[in-house]
Amino acid sequence: MSSKKRDYYEVLGVGKDASTNDIKLAYRRLARKFHPDVNKTDPKAKEKFIEIQEAYEVLNDENKRRNYDRFGHGGVQVDMSDFFSGGIPGIDELFRSIFGEFSPFGGFNGFGGVGSRTRRRTAPRREVGQDIEDYIEISFEEAMFGVKKDVPIKRYTPCDECEGTGAEDPSSVITCPECQGTGRIRKMTQSGFGTIIRESACYVCKGTGQVIEKKCKVCNGNKVVPEEKMIHVNIPPGVENGVHLKVQGAGHVPSVNAIPGDLYLGIRITNNEKFIRRGNDLYTPTNIDIVTAIVGGKIKVPTLDYKENKITEKELPIPAGTQPGTEFRIKNRGVSYMRGRGRGDQYVIVNIEIPKKISEKQKELLLKFRELDK
Ligand SMILES: [Zn+2]
Ligand SMILES: [Zn+2]
Repeated sequence: MSSKKRDYYEVLGVGKDASTNDIKLAYRRLARKFHPDVNKTDPKAKEKFIEIQEAYEVLNDENKRRNYDRFGHGGVQVDMSDFFSGGIPGIDELFRSIFGEFSPFGGFNGFGGVGSRTRRRTAPRREVGQDIEDYIEISFEEAMFGVKKDVPIKRYTPCDECEGTGAEDPSSVITCPECQGTGRIRKMTQSGFGTIIRESACYVCKGTGQVIEKKCKVCNGNKVVPEEKMIHVNIPPGVENGVHLKVQGAGHVPSVNAIPGDLYLGIRITNNEKFIRRGNDLYTPTNIDIVTAIVGGKIKVPTLDYKENKITEKELPIPAGTQPGTEFRIKNRGVSYMRGRGRGDQYVIVNIEIPKKISEKQKELLLKFRELDK
Protein backbone atom coordinates (compact mmCIF):
# COMPACT_ATOMS: atom_id res chain seq x y z
CA MET A 1 0.00 0.00 0.00
CA SER A 2 1.12 3.52 -0.63
CA SER A 3 2.74 5.32 2.23
CA LYS A 4 0.29 8.17 2.21
CA LYS A 5 -3.29 7.09 2.72
CA ARG A 6 -5.94 8.52 0.47
CA ASP A 7 -9.14 9.94 1.82
CA TYR A 8 -11.68 7.13 2.17
CA TYR A 9 -14.47 9.12 0.55
CA GLU A 10 -12.19 9.85 -2.36
CA VAL A 11 -11.30 6.17 -2.65
CA LEU A 12 -14.96 5.22 -2.97
CA GLY A 13 -15.77 8.30 -5.02
CA VAL A 14 -18.61 9.41 -2.79
CA GLY A 15 -19.38 12.64 -1.00
CA LYS A 16 -19.04 13.16 2.73
CA ASP A 17 -22.82 13.08 3.04
CA ALA A 18 -23.16 9.76 1.23
CA SER A 19 -25.78 7.42 2.64
CA THR A 20 -24.97 3.87 3.70
CA ASN A 21 -26.59 2.70 0.53
CA ASP A 22 -24.49 5.04 -1.63
CA ILE A 23 -21.41 3.63 0.05
CA LYS A 24 -22.47 0.04 -0.49
CA LEU A 25 -23.21 0.67 -4.15
CA ALA A 26 -19.94 2.52 -4.73
CA TYR A 27 -17.99 -0.22 -2.99
CA ARG A 28 -19.73 -2.88 -5.00
CA ARG A 29 -19.07 -1.16 -8.27
CA LEU A 30 -15.38 -0.61 -7.51
CA ALA A 31 -14.84 -4.05 -6.04
CA ARG A 32 -16.20 -5.53 -9.25
CA LYS A 33 -13.72 -3.47 -11.19
CA PHE A 34 -10.58 -4.05 -9.15
CA HIS A 35 -11.02 -7.41 -7.46
CA PRO A 36 -8.00 -9.50 -8.52
CA ASP A 37 -10.38 -12.26 -9.66
CA VAL A 38 -11.82 -9.90 -12.22
CA ASN A 39 -9.07 -7.48 -13.05
CA LYS A 40 -6.10 -9.29 -14.57
CA THR A 41 -4.73 -6.37 -16.56
CA ASP A 42 -4.05 -3.64 -14.05
CA PRO A 43 -0.90 -4.57 -12.07
CA LYS A 44 -2.09 -2.35 -9.24
CA ALA A 45 -5.54 -3.94 -9.07
CA LYS A 46 -4.87 -5.81 -5.87
CA GLU A 47 -3.50 -2.75 -4.15
CA LYS A 48 -6.47 -0.73 -5.30
CA PHE A 49 -8.88 -3.39 -4.18
CA ILE A 50 -7.40 -3.49 -0.70
CA GLU A 51 -7.69 0.27 -0.52
CA ILE A 52 -11.33 0.05 -1.55
CA GLN A 53 -12.03 -2.68 0.95
CA GLU A 54 -10.45 -0.69 3.74
CA ALA A 55 -12.39 2.45 2.86
CA TYR A 56 -15.57 0.43 2.85
CA GLU A 57 -14.83 -1.22 6.20
CA VAL A 58 -14.55 2.20 7.77
CA LEU A 59 -17.30 4.13 6.03
CA ASN A 60 -19.83 1.33 6.33
CA ASP A 61 -19.36 1.17 10.07
CA GLU A 62 -21.23 3.95 11.80
CA ASN A 63 -18.76 4.32 14.67
CA LYS A 64 -15.66 4.07 12.55
CA ARG A 65 -17.08 6.54 10.09
CA ARG A 66 -17.82 9.04 12.84
CA ASN A 67 -14.28 8.71 14.20
CA TYR A 68 -12.83 9.03 10.75
CA ASP A 69 -14.88 12.16 10.08
CA ARG A 70 -13.61 13.74 13.26
CA PHE A 71 -10.02 12.58 13.44
CA GLY A 72 -9.11 11.36 9.97
CA HIS A 73 -6.96 8.28 9.50
CA GLY A 74 -5.63 8.61 13.04
CA GLY A 75 -9.11 8.07 14.42
CA VAL A 76 -9.65 4.59 13.04
CA GLN A 77 -7.72 1.42 13.15
CA VAL A 78 -8.39 -0.98 10.38
CA ASP A 79 -6.56 -4.21 10.41
CA MET A 80 -6.61 -5.45 6.86
CA SER A 81 -4.09 -8.16 7.68
CA ASP A 82 -6.83 -9.84 9.69
CA PHE A 83 -9.24 -9.50 6.83
CA PHE A 84 -6.89 -10.92 4.28
CA SER A 85 -4.95 -13.34 6.44
CA GLY A 86 -6.31 -16.20 4.38
CA GLY A 87 -5.76 -14.41 1.07
CA ILE A 88 -8.31 -12.23 -0.69
CA PRO A 89 -11.59 -14.10 -0.81
CA GLY A 90 -13.16 -14.81 -4.17
CA ILE A 91 -15.49 -12.10 -5.36
CA ASP A 92 -18.56 -14.34 -5.12
CA GLU A 93 -17.74 -15.36 -1.62
CA LEU A 94 -16.98 -11.80 -0.66
CA PHE A 95 -20.23 -10.43 -1.99
CA ARG A 96 -22.13 -13.25 -0.46
CA SER A 97 -20.73 -12.48 2.94
CA ILE A 98 -21.16 -8.74 2.58
CA PHE A 99 -24.44 -8.45 0.80
CA GLY A 100 -25.90 -11.75 1.91
CA GLU A 101 -26.42 -12.74 -1.69
CA PHE A 102 -27.72 -16.24 -2.25
CA SER A 103 -27.58 -16.92 1.43
CA PRO A 104 -30.03 -19.72 2.07
CA PHE A 105 -30.36 -18.56 5.63
CA GLY A 106 -31.92 -15.24 4.94
CA GLY A 107 -30.96 -12.13 3.16
CA PHE A 108 -28.91 -9.20 3.98
CA ASN A 109 -27.12 -9.24 7.25
CA GLY A 110 -25.50 -5.87 7.17
CA PHE A 111 -21.82 -6.82 7.11
CA GLY A 112 -21.73 -8.15 10.63
CA GLY A 113 -18.50 -10.05 11.02
CA VAL A 114 -17.02 -10.01 7.61
CA GLY A 115 -13.52 -10.28 9.00
CA SER A 116 -14.18 -13.71 10.34
CA ARG A 117 -16.48 -14.74 7.57
CA THR A 118 -14.22 -14.25 4.65
CA ARG A 119 -11.02 -15.24 6.32
CA ARG A 120 -11.74 -18.91 5.98
CA ARG A 121 -11.40 -19.90 2.40
CA THR A 122 -12.58 -23.37 1.85
CA ALA A 123 -13.53 -25.23 -1.24
CA PRO A 124 -16.27 -26.12 -1.75
CA ARG A 125 -17.81 -23.11 -0.18
CA ARG A 126 -19.00 -23.65 3.32
CA GLU A 127 -22.16 -22.10 4.48
CA VAL A 128 -21.80 -19.61 7.30
CA GLY A 129 -24.35 -19.37 10.06
CA GLN A 130 -25.89 -16.10 11.09
CA ASP A 131 -24.61 -14.33 14.13
CA ILE A 132 -26.69 -13.89 17.21
CA GLU A 133 -26.77 -10.58 19.00
CA ASP A 134 -27.82 -10.49 22.60
CA TYR A 135 -26.95 -8.61 25.73
CA ILE A 136 -26.34 -9.31 29.34
CA GLU A 137 -26.65 -7.10 32.38
CA ILE A 138 -23.96 -7.39 34.99
CA SER A 139 -23.25 -5.55 38.22
CA PHE A 140 -20.48 -3.01 38.66
CA GLU A 141 -18.50 -5.48 40.79
CA GLU A 142 -18.84 -8.19 38.17
CA ALA A 143 -17.56 -5.78 35.54
CA MET A 144 -14.64 -4.75 37.70
CA PHE A 145 -13.46 -8.20 38.72
CA GLY A 146 -14.69 -10.31 35.84
CA VAL A 147 -17.33 -12.98 36.03
CA LYS A 148 -18.33 -16.25 34.47
CA LYS A 149 -21.90 -16.31 33.24
CA ASP A 150 -24.17 -18.83 31.63
CA VAL A 151 -26.13 -17.10 28.93
CA PRO A 152 -29.17 -18.83 27.46
CA ILE A 153 -29.37 -18.49 23.69
CA LYS A 154 -31.85 -19.64 21.11
CA ARG A 155 -30.40 -20.76 17.87
CA TYR A 156 -30.93 -23.07 14.95
CA THR A 157 -28.98 -26.28 14.61
CA PRO A 158 -29.22 -29.11 12.10
CA CYS A 159 -32.06 -31.51 12.83
CA ASP A 160 -30.80 -34.71 14.45
CA GLU A 161 -33.61 -36.86 13.14
CA CYS A 162 -32.77 -36.30 9.46
CA GLU A 163 -29.12 -35.33 10.01
CA GLY A 164 -29.85 -31.94 8.57
CA THR A 165 -31.15 -33.16 5.24
CA GLY A 166 -34.77 -32.21 5.87
CA ALA A 167 -35.87 -35.49 4.30
CA GLU A 168 -37.68 -38.40 5.91
CA ASP A 169 -35.12 -40.80 4.46
CA PRO A 170 -32.19 -40.41 2.10
CA SER A 171 -34.15 -41.72 -0.93
CA SER A 172 -36.62 -38.85 -0.75
CA VAL A 173 -33.92 -36.34 -1.63
CA ILE A 174 -33.97 -35.94 -5.40
CA THR A 175 -32.23 -33.76 -7.94
CA CYS A 176 -34.09 -30.52 -8.51
CA PRO A 177 -36.08 -30.81 -11.74
CA GLU A 178 -36.02 -27.07 -12.33
CA CYS A 179 -32.25 -26.56 -12.46
CA GLN A 180 -31.15 -30.17 -12.98
CA GLY A 181 -29.17 -30.01 -9.79
CA THR A 182 -27.00 -27.02 -10.69
CA GLY A 183 -28.75 -24.76 -8.22
CA ARG A 184 -28.53 -21.88 -10.70
CA ILE A 185 -30.93 -20.52 -13.22
CA ARG A 186 -29.95 -18.36 -16.19
CA LYS A 187 -32.27 -15.70 -17.41
CA MET A 188 -31.84 -13.70 -20.57
CA THR A 189 -33.21 -10.21 -20.75
CA GLN A 190 -33.09 -7.66 -23.53
CA SER A 191 -31.95 -4.17 -22.78
CA GLY A 192 -30.71 -1.16 -24.63
CA PHE A 193 -27.18 -2.56 -24.38
CA GLY A 194 -28.05 -5.92 -25.84
CA THR A 195 -28.76 -9.25 -24.27
CA ILE A 196 -27.98 -9.62 -20.62
CA ILE A 197 -27.62 -13.03 -19.12
CA ARG A 198 -28.35 -13.10 -15.48
CA GLU A 199 -27.66 -16.01 -13.28
CA SER A 200 -29.44 -16.42 -10.01
CA ALA A 201 -30.15 -19.05 -7.42
CA CYS A 202 -32.82 -21.55 -8.41
CA TYR A 203 -36.11 -20.57 -6.83
CA VAL A 204 -37.31 -24.15 -6.47
CA CYS A 205 -34.37 -25.63 -4.57
CA LYS A 206 -33.02 -22.28 -3.34
CA GLY A 207 -29.67 -22.98 -4.92
CA THR A 208 -29.06 -26.36 -3.31
CA GLY A 209 -29.73 -28.40 -6.45
CA GLN A 210 -31.87 -30.82 -4.52
CA VAL A 211 -35.48 -31.01 -3.47
CA ILE A 212 -37.18 -33.15 -0.89
CA GLU A 213 -40.13 -35.32 -1.77
CA LYS A 214 -40.97 -36.48 1.73
CA LYS A 215 -40.14 -34.08 4.48
CA CYS A 216 -38.69 -34.99 7.83
CA LYS A 217 -41.45 -34.92 10.42
CA VAL A 218 -39.34 -33.43 13.15
CA CYS A 219 -38.06 -30.35 11.35
CA ASN A 220 -40.81 -30.31 8.73
CA GLY A 221 -38.20 -30.20 5.99
CA ASN A 222 -36.51 -27.12 7.39
CA LYS A 223 -33.28 -29.05 8.03
CA VAL A 224 -32.82 -27.14 11.23
CA VAL A 225 -34.53 -27.11 14.58
CA PRO A 226 -34.56 -24.46 17.27
CA GLU A 227 -32.25 -25.18 20.14
CA GLU A 228 -31.96 -23.55 23.54
CA LYS A 229 -28.49 -23.66 24.83
CA MET A 230 -26.47 -22.31 27.71
CA ILE A 231 -23.33 -20.59 26.58
CA HIS A 232 -20.61 -20.27 29.10
CA VAL A 233 -19.12 -16.80 28.87
CA ASN A 234 -16.02 -15.59 30.58
CA ILE A 235 -16.37 -11.86 31.07
CA PRO A 236 -12.91 -10.35 31.63
CA PRO A 237 -12.16 -7.91 34.46
CA GLY A 238 -12.41 -4.30 33.40
CA VAL A 239 -15.02 -4.88 30.71
CA GLU A 240 -16.60 -1.65 29.55
CA ASN A 241 -20.24 -0.81 29.30
CA GLY A 242 -21.55 -1.25 25.77
CA VAL A 243 -18.79 -3.45 24.39
CA HIS A 244 -19.71 -6.60 22.54
CA LEU A 245 -17.91 -9.78 23.45
CA LYS A 246 -17.62 -12.24 20.62
CA VAL A 247 -18.20 -15.88 21.39
CA GLN A 248 -17.00 -17.69 18.33
CA GLY A 249 -19.21 -20.47 17.06
CA ALA A 250 -22.12 -19.79 19.37
CA GLY A 251 -24.36 -18.47 16.60
CA HIS A 252 -26.75 -20.28 14.31
CA VAL A 253 -25.69 -23.51 12.63
CA PRO A 254 -27.57 -23.74 9.34
CA SER A 255 -26.25 -27.12 8.20
CA VAL A 256 -24.06 -30.02 9.26
CA ASN A 257 -20.94 -28.77 7.50
CA ALA A 258 -21.57 -25.11 8.06
CA ILE A 259 -19.31 -22.76 9.93
CA PRO A 260 -21.43 -21.71 12.88
CA GLY A 261 -22.16 -18.02 13.30
CA ASP A 262 -20.88 -16.16 16.32
CA LEU A 263 -22.54 -14.72 19.36
CA TYR A 264 -22.06 -11.03 19.99
CA LEU A 265 -22.88 -10.39 23.60
CA GLY A 266 -23.44 -6.75 24.52
CA ILE A 267 -22.45 -5.80 28.05
CA ARG A 268 -24.63 -3.54 30.15
CA ILE A 269 -23.26 -2.56 33.50
CA THR A 270 -25.61 -1.40 36.23
CA ASN A 271 -24.70 1.80 38.01
CA ASN A 272 -22.76 1.96 41.19
CA GLU A 273 -23.33 4.97 43.41
CA LYS A 274 -19.86 5.03 44.92
CA PHE A 275 -17.85 4.96 41.73
CA ILE A 276 -17.79 6.94 38.54
CA ARG A 277 -15.80 5.33 35.80
CA ARG A 278 -13.91 7.16 33.07
CA GLY A 279 -11.97 4.76 30.94
CA ASN A 280 -9.88 2.85 33.41
CA ASP A 281 -9.88 5.58 36.04
CA LEU A 282 -12.35 5.65 38.89
CA TYR A 283 -13.69 8.73 40.61
CA THR A 284 -15.06 8.52 44.10
CA PRO A 285 -16.75 11.66 45.36
CA THR A 286 -16.30 11.63 49.12
CA ASN A 287 -17.70 13.80 51.89
CA ILE A 288 -15.39 14.95 54.65
CA ASP A 289 -16.29 17.01 57.66
CA ILE A 290 -15.20 20.59 58.01
CA VAL A 291 -12.81 19.95 60.91
CA THR A 292 -10.93 17.21 59.04
CA ALA A 293 -10.63 19.56 56.10
CA ILE A 294 -9.16 22.26 58.30
CA VAL A 295 -6.92 20.35 60.67
CA GLY A 296 -6.31 17.23 58.60
CA GLY A 297 -6.98 13.61 59.44
CA LYS A 298 -7.77 10.29 57.88
CA ILE A 299 -10.78 9.08 55.97
CA LYS A 300 -11.81 5.77 54.48
CA VAL A 301 -12.64 5.43 50.81
CA PRO A 302 -14.07 2.49 48.89
CA THR A 303 -11.54 0.95 46.52
CA LEU A 304 -11.14 -2.07 44.31
CA ASP A 305 -9.17 -4.90 45.83
CA TYR A 306 -7.97 -7.14 43.02
CA LYS A 307 -6.40 -9.58 45.46
CA GLU A 308 -9.67 -10.37 47.18
CA ASN A 309 -11.72 -9.43 44.13
CA LYS A 310 -14.09 -7.25 46.05
CA ILE A 311 -14.65 -3.65 47.02
CA THR A 312 -12.84 -2.82 50.21
CA GLU A 313 -11.97 0.34 52.09
CA LYS A 314 -8.67 2.10 52.07
CA GLU A 315 -7.42 4.72 54.45
CA LEU A 316 -6.53 8.04 52.91
CA PRO A 317 -4.69 10.80 54.80
CA ILE A 318 -6.24 14.25 54.42
CA PRO A 319 -3.75 17.07 54.84
CA ALA A 320 -4.66 20.13 56.89
CA GLY A 321 -6.22 22.91 54.85
CA THR A 322 -7.81 20.70 52.22
CA GLN A 323 -10.02 22.72 49.87
CA PRO A 324 -13.42 21.70 48.50
CA GLY A 325 -13.15 19.84 45.22
CA THR A 326 -9.57 18.70 45.82
CA GLU A 327 -8.70 15.53 43.92
CA PHE A 328 -6.48 12.97 45.57
CA ARG A 329 -4.97 10.50 43.18
CA ILE A 330 -4.40 6.97 44.36
CA LYS A 331 -2.14 5.41 41.79
CA ASN A 332 -2.98 1.98 40.40
CA ARG A 333 -6.28 1.77 42.21
CA GLY A 334 -8.45 2.10 39.15
CA VAL A 335 -9.92 -0.50 36.85
CA SER A 336 -7.85 -3.40 35.56
CA TYR A 337 -7.15 -3.11 31.84
CA MET A 338 -9.34 -5.48 29.89
CA ARG A 339 -6.42 -6.27 27.61
CA GLY A 340 -2.91 -6.37 28.94
CA ARG A 341 -1.62 -5.69 32.39
CA GLY A 342 -2.01 -2.73 34.66
CA ARG A 343 -4.71 -0.60 36.18
CA GLY A 344 -5.96 2.91 35.97
CA ASP A 345 -5.92 5.30 38.91
CA GLN A 346 -8.49 6.26 41.48
CA TYR A 347 -9.35 9.89 42.18
CA VAL A 348 -10.97 10.82 45.43
CA ILE A 349 -12.86 14.07 45.00
CA VAL A 350 -13.40 15.85 48.25
CA ASN A 351 -16.66 17.50 49.16
CA ILE A 352 -16.60 19.38 52.43
CA GLU A 353 -19.79 19.07 54.38
CA ILE A 354 -20.98 22.22 56.04
CA PRO A 355 -23.12 21.26 59.04
CA LYS A 356 -26.70 22.44 58.66
CA LYS A 357 -27.28 22.47 62.39
CA ILE A 358 -24.87 23.11 65.22
CA SER A 359 -25.26 23.37 68.95
CA GLU A 360 -25.03 26.59 70.91
CA LYS A 361 -21.68 25.47 72.26
CA GLN A 362 -20.30 24.81 68.76
CA LYS A 363 -21.56 28.15 67.59
CA GLU A 364 -19.85 29.84 70.49
CA LEU A 365 -16.57 28.14 69.66
CA LEU A 366 -16.82 28.98 65.98
CA LEU A 367 -17.45 32.61 66.71
CA LYS A 368 -14.45 32.54 68.99
CA PHE A 369 -12.51 30.89 66.18
CA ARG A 370 -13.42 33.78 63.93
CA GLU A 371 -12.27 36.26 66.52
CA LEU A 372 -8.91 34.50 66.74
CA ASP A 373 -8.62 34.24 62.97
CA LYS A 374 -8.53 38.04 62.59
ZN1 LIG B 1 -33.17 -26.08 -8.47
ZN1 LIG C 1 -35.35 -33.19 10.26
